[in-house]
Amino acid sequence: MSTDRVVLVTGGNRGIGRAIAERFVAAGYRVAVTARSGEGPEGTLTVRADVTDAAAVDAAFTEVEQQLGPIGIVVANAGVTKDTLLLRMTEDDFDSVLATNLGGTFRVVKRAAKGMLRAKWGRVILISSVVGLYGSAGQVNYSSSKSGLVGFARSLTRELGGRGITANVVAPGFIETDMTAELPEATQAEYRKNIPAGRFATADEVAGVVAWLASDDAAYISGAVIPVDGGLGMGH
Ligand code: NDP
Repeated sequence: MSTDRVVLVTGGNRGIGRAIAERFVAAGYRVAVTARSGEGPEGTLTVRADVTDAAAVDAAFTEVEQQLGPIGIVVANAGVTKDTLLLRMTEDDFDSVLATNLGGTFRVVKRAAKGMLRAKWGRVILISSVVGLYGSAGQVNYSSSKSGLVGFARSLTRELGGRGITANVVAPGFIETDMTAELPEATQAEYRKNIPAGRFATADEVAGVVAWLASDDAAYISGAVIPVDGGLGMGH
């Protein structure tokens, strides 16, 4: 299996992004992470970038290309929530979540596609969420941004699928990270009841699927949504 590729993971300083970066390092890839704060795991190159800022994304890519080489695998992982019920949701609550989760993916993947087209090879992996297709009360902004990634990956597959580039979506369910730790214990217990697996997942369980999508074994998979949710979304 070829691991002679450069990987860029956005939001690789903590949570799922950090676990993904660790997996790729362990498999022998050259790995860079973007972070607004903190550092990526040992063995990674950390570059600063806020994904809402196209110039910062461009500068981060240039730095990684100069230090590690052309980026073949991009994992758009950076994401935020700003949960509240629709009638209480402000324009900013909506716009800022879309600008990070969907707009950030646009900026990152657009910049990554240049090098992938040149190399005639690329793997685009977008971190969505079970709620993108399942829906979630209080998350109109977040779930819209996450289902938007499905249309994004499928359109990209139609545009670039003939150039050796695949684009897939990984849709995690509930994963033990800072994002879910913020939820009240009663809410977490309620969620757990509805998950056939009866538990939340570790970030590493998501990372394994991402690493597989980047591998040679997944060369003929594109436009897919791969759930990592313990059965919550029933494979939707
Ligand atoms: P965390 O809150 O632990 O980490 C979020 C990451 O995104 C951080 O690295 C953060 O950087 C980065 N980030 C946020 N906004 C920006 C921005 N504007 N520019 C650059 N980086 C940014 O989240 P998780 O690890 O839990 O989530 C990672 C991804 O997985 C997200 O897309 C999330 O929606 C998705 N997901 C998570 C699930 C879960 O149960 N945890 C379930 C389904 C999907 P910083 O530290 O600088 O803020």
